[in-house]
Amino acid sequence: MKKFETNAIRTQSEKTENREHSVPLYLTSSFTFEDAEQMRAMFADEQEGNIYSRFSNPNSTEFVEKMCQMEGAEAGYATASGMSAIFASFMALLKSGDHILSASSIFGSTHTIITKFLPKWGIEHSYADMNKPETWEKLIQKNTKMIFVETPSNPGLDIIDLEWLGNLANKHNIILNVDNCFATPFIQQPIKYGAHLVTHSATKYIDGQGRVVGGIVLGKKELIKEIYTLCRSTGPALSPFNAWVLSKSLETLSIRMERHCQNAHKLAGLLENHPDVLQVRYPFLLSHPQFEIAKKQMSMGGGIVTFEIKGGIERGRKFLDALQMCSLTANLGDTRTIATHPASTTHAKLTEEERKEIGITPGMVRISVGLENIIDIISDIEQALEKSR
Ligand SMILES: *Cc1c(COP(=O)(O)O)cnc(C)c1O
Repeated sequence: MKKFETNAIRTQSEKTENREHSVPLYLTSSFTFEDAEQMRAMFADEQEGNIYSRFSNPNSTEFVEKMCQMEGAEAGYATASGMSAIFASFMALLKSGDHILSASSIFGSTHTIITKFLPKWGIEHSYADMNKPETWEKLIQKNTKMIFVETPSNPGLDIIDLEWLGNLANKHNIILNVDNCFATPFIQQPIKYGAHLVTHSATKYIDGQGRVVGGIVLGKKELIKEIYTLCRSTGPALSPFNAWVLSKSLETLSIRMERHCQNAHKLAGLLENHPDVLQVRYPFLLSHPQFEIAKKQMSMGGGIVTFEIKGGIERGRKFLDALQMCSLTANLGDTRTIATHPASTTHAKLTEEERKEIGITPGMVRISVGLENIIDIISDIEQALEKSR
């Protein structure tokens, strides 16, 4: 078994007769058969092979194979977005009368699926507090079929002990489904700690350059089979072009993540001593409430830093307006540094009380630290802090 970086580069779909070095783009909706017998056998699942790009395509297969090696997963299915990966994992494995236990600090759209849509199909839910793991076991019911978490969470950077959670899930025979978007498999591999499924928004660090939307769900063969069967008929497949881009991106994931983490760690350290900053959150800062757990399950601290600016909502907005280089955009995990102010944008529809419950304070700023020179990143943020006073 070769190392992480080598697999990310050397796993490649079989060369064609053209002996190309870099993998070609298979921009085709369907695949031809040698004869009627081959066509019959492939449709009957007696013979493996590509039939139609809603089911599989060489570019998405290559992307899935690389991701399986990186996460230590048996199987996977690539989807058109992170949300379709998460949604498919719910729809394939939960049925009317089931219950899902989810962390309350999760991505906004995941929250919407669990709260607004799952009840339409008779699937109940409870939310649990990432900062109070001792309350989780009591929230498990007879009909609990799945536990869903994000660690670190978006945007609060809460962290939960995956080893402890894996044991809890196995004790109660529950599927543990982990959104590993913020850490990426370079930094954290939830399956090692007992997760049965891992989902990703490939739009973020996996693409890493803000170009395409994509997702993937990975895990146990028998679970992925159910998810594949649902997706094959319902159609959230990743496009071959996006799969080609994402598989290429994985070749540089390790070096990109190293630099994202270095830059983010430096910025977090600096902000911690800044007079205009009330509080900084970064998994590898000693001041993070789950620092010990982060050190145990993550190899680096990740590329996201959040901080609480003095002066609340108004100051937060002024800070964004004063930035000269950092981008104001909804994405994260890009080469370009991105700043967002959740209270006045992504989470503006919640009440202040609701925001507080999921850890979003009025002055919270989230920085997705990019790959520009750290000196330029820091000086832009420092001048914006000053100008927003
Ligand atoms: C962005 C994001 C998603 C959704 O992914 P899309 O590719 O935008 O559909 C899910 N989870 C987390 C943690 C995210 O940051």
